[in-house]
Amino acid sequence: MSDSAPRTAAATDLPALTLRRDKAVRSAVEVSLAGEAAPVVGLLDVTGIREDARALTAAFAEVTAPGTPVLHAFAVKAAPLVPVLRLLCAEGIGAEVASPGELALARAAGIEPGRTVLDSPAKTRGELREALDLGIAVNADNPQELARLDELVAGAPPRSPLGVRVNPQVGGGSIEALSTATATSKFGVALRDEGARDWLVRAFLDRPWLTRLHTHSGSQGIPLDRLAAGLAATAALAEEINEKAGRRQIDTLDIGGGLPVNFASDERTPDFATYARLLRREVPVLFGGGYGLVTEFGRSLLAKHGTALARVEYTKSSGGRPIAVTHAGAQIAARTVYAPESWPLRIAAYDSAGRPKSGPEVAQDVAGPACFAGDLLARDRPLPLLAPGDFAAALDTGAYYFAHHYAYNSLARPPIYGFTTTADPASEVRFALVREGQRTEEIVAESGGALRDALVAEE
Ligand SMILES: *Cc1c(COP(=O)(O)O)cnc(C)c1O
Repeated sequence: MSDSAPRTAAATDLPALTLRRDKAVRSAVEVSLAGEAAPVVGLLDVTGIREDARALTAAFAEVTAPGTPVLHAFAVKAAPLVPVLRLLCAEGIGAEVASPGELALARAAGIEPGRTVLDSPAKTRGELREALDLGIAVNADNPQELARLDELVAGAPPRSPLGVRVNPQVGGGSIEALSTATATSKFGVALRDEGARDWLVRAFLDRPWLTRLHTHSGSQGIPLDRLAAGLAATAALAEEINEKAGRRQIDTLDIGGGLPVNFASDERTPDFATYARLLRREVPVLFGGGYGLVTEFGRSLLAKHGTALARVEYTKSSGGRPIAVTHAGAQIAARTVYAPESWPLRIAAYDSAGRPKSGPEVAQDVAGPACFAGDLLARDRPLPLLAPGDFAAALDTGAYYFAHHYAYNSLARPPIYGFTTTADPASEVRFALVREGQRTEEIVAESGGALRDALVAEE
């Protein structure tokens, strides 16, 4: 069945995720969460997020030795929303943070310092001190940062577990900007560079408090076997260090995130269980019980559970191409708008009542509201012909999309709602506000509204 075919209650062969999304869209339109007054909203499927959090936990429980400590630390950058972090926390998931803002979000969500990992490549002395005071795990990115840790831990052994990020230099994936294990990546200590391995071994032997190795080979577009190769190189280094230390100095490996998301359909491929089993096969040393594990998945937990629903304001035709002008563009989908080849998004068409739209497919552009020609969610896309008042839904946008506002044209941050429902057509849909939409007064205030005369004070 194509994405635009009519869906009825009888269409139970659709994935539950699809059925829940259709119900949520219908309901959001019925109760006017989306419509004239709210022309673009983000919707998050709470059931789907919970299911994936449980699937992640179960996938690693299946492959680790009994009693192995495993912390799944959600990469906050994928969905920096306090209620989402709180929901994940309730499912036993911690936080990976990379800025003072992300740390503050994790703390606001009630995530304990002992379940938080700090990874930024540009940590200031102040950030490092705060993390160590709180007992948050820190992965040092480079030798200069390690020297700062030396100063901070001088005297007293740290409460925080401390590690070093390595770049296994196993190569990139299909998206250059998100490939962190290339030869010249800015992240971590480049393991294959001349002298780097010896330096790392010595760095650990000289610092008995250094107990972790961390790697994250990239996000989206990295083949699974390349992720595994990066982890194999990291685990081999840990084994070498422990052997030279004559003890299990490195007790935890942080394997990063990076599990890719399928943006082509509602199927959950690859899933966490597939990845965990592949790692057990390719990097068995991770699971022998010798190491505790930290994971840092982001998009794979959230992407499939988000939908950006945008009202069609006008339709027109240009050079023979039908165009639907909607309220979702660069402000909620910056990556897709600026790099459409790397970040294609599926679009689902809904009618003005929020029902899946049927009718013959017509190639059309789905445009956003921003004032530049490239502001398109989709180009030349076959969809039932959209009309004013219909809705275009950008699917798989639960991570790195509508929670990542880009303030072009001073377009407002859209409101975000979580929804809870089941695939059963009779069950109701409940919405919970996750983040308020930005008001016009807030845009003025955040744009120096209170400083109006700052540049004309002399006049
Ligand atoms: C971005 C990032 C992640 C999460 O990546 P996903 O592709 O969203 O899973 C994990 N760890 C680090 C260090 C990152 O920078």
